[in-house]
Amino acid sequence: MSDGRALARAYLEQQRLLGTDAVALPADAEVVSPAAGPVAAGAPGSRPGSGDSPPPTSGVVHLTPGVSPGKDEKRDPVSGLPAAGLTYDPPAQDLFSSDPVQRATTLADIAELVSSCTKCRLCEARNNTVPGEGAERARLVVVGEGPGKTEDETGRPFVGKAGELLTKILSAIGLAREQVYICNVVKCRPPENRTPQYDEIAACVPYLFRQIELLAPGVILAMGNTAAQTILNTKQSLGALRSKVHRFRGIPVIVTYHPAALLRNPNWKKPTWDDVRIAHRLLDG
Ligand code: SF4
Repeated sequence: MSDGRALARAYLEQQRLLGTDAVALPADAEVVSPAAGPVAAGAPGSRPGSGDSPPPTSGVVHLTPGVSPGKDEKRDPVSGLPAAGLTYDPPAQDLFSSDPVQRATTLADIAELVSSCTKCRLCEARNNTVPGEGAERARLVVVGEGPGKTEDETGRPFVGKAGELLTKILSAIGLAREQVYICNVVKCRPPENRTPQYDEIAACVPYLFRQIELLAPGVILAMGNTAAQTILNTKQSLGALRSKVHRFRGIPVIVTYHPAALLRNPNWKKPTWDDVRIAHRLLDG
């Protein structure tokens, strides 16, 4: 292999590990893909690992392969991190939108909008909205499913026994609760703590997406099925989503069990610890 190709391959690999999903090159450039070897830009095969994928955009090398079911434990040989997983990039915001959620420029703006929100039926029985809390410059954002009884009573996310466990999990990787931002997919308590329904999630998720956009964290920790499936726009199970580094708008997403589930099933503590350590390594760069 020529020095130029070796350098290009190393550069692409570095970009992939840094979280770049695609690199655009001149249309007539020769492309060296880290996974598929040298190919011409725009030629079939310039999207690695996808023989039946759609024709690639000219001059774009996709660096994040899709999910690989059944290969959960495959590790990146350079970083030692789990293999890349799903990437979800929701549609870009309209800068001139009249939607107040899109026009919100602070987390306090979002909290104020949430406090008077009646976009779904979950507003009917709530005592308090639970928009989220934590550091405005948090490097880690923790996302759960929705408020429970104590959260509804206090207006704060992850309090009670599940919250105490989350605090312990965070402290095990050297983070105080105040250093992270903690929130949920839905901001009002579902009756009897049931799983939020699709239309409720659809109504509420713009708040979460805007919060993540404003925070621009280094890592998102999605705790539980609802958080993981909502953030990654997938119906895959939590088991299939664990042990991979996913991305939401380029931000690494790690999926793990919800602390409330750990209280019910202590056997999940070890895999949760494994997941949280991956998040920690990503935060450490
Ligand atoms: Fe509004 Fe979300 Fe509460 Fe529904 S759950 S009323 S969308 S804040």
